[in-house]
Amino acid sequence: MASNNKFFVGGNWKCNGTKDSITKLVSDLNNAKLEADVDVVVSPPFVYIDQVKNLLTDRIEISAQNSWVGKGGAFTGEISVEQLKDIGCKWVILGHSERRHVIGEDDQFIGKKAAYALSESVGVIACIGEKLEEREAGKTFDVCFKQLKAFADAVPSWENIVVAYEPVWAIGTGKVATPLQAQEVHAAVRDWLKTNVSADVASATRIIYGGSVNGGNCAELAKQEDIDGFLVGGASLKGPEFATIVNSVT
Ligand code: PGA
Repeated sequence: MASNNKFFVGGNWKCNGTKDSITKLVSDLNNAKLEADVDVVVSPPFVYIDQVKNLLTDRIEISAQNSWVGKGGAFTGEISVEQLKDIGCKWVILGHSERRHVIGEDDQFIGKKAAYALSESVGVIACIGEKLEEREAGKTFDVCFKQLKAFADAVPSWENIVVAYEPVWAIGTGKVATPLQAQEVHAAVRDWLKTNVSADVASATRIIYGGSVNGGNCAELAKQEDIDGFLVGGASLKGPEFATIVNSVT
């Protein structure tokens, strides 16, 4: 990371954990030594957010993994941004590839969700990323820019947005992007923001990398000029390893 942006590391616990395993993970996080100059966020499954909020040190903020697109009401199975705020969430992950490609959320729906969360002062971790076949077809930038544009078209301001570049082929596969592959896309995303939003937004927006980040590969990735942090899945379920990733800030 070469910019002046504050490093940002998120732990995306996905659909994992039990009351017991989460109590242990929170205790490991509470005992971990974390670099002071890093924003640290964890994202438990909805049903455990309240438990985590009650046990976790205030040093670490809480994110949801999804939110409803508007005000709550008759939307069976959904959770509103207002409810997330009520239990202490400061952030929400939107546009994660599992929601795009497994659940079927499209760019416009995700953009609307982002705008609604921001309107309620909840920060958005806005995920973008290409599938393997798209990378192989030379479409990485096209795909990422299209997803980015849907966010840009929907949101009034980028102040409370962190962009997460997560190549789908690297998520949960153990196949991490090389530092150069990641840097290339991060630089292109920053450039896109500069051209299509503003130079200020391009330099101030944190662009974090996700996809098989672990305690062994984080340091090299963190050295890249345009990598401002990480969104971590599997390795965020292990407190000491997550701490190593947080502390990889350069
Ligand atoms: P992973 O997941 O670290 O397990 O690859 C990252 C993510 O999906 O955010």
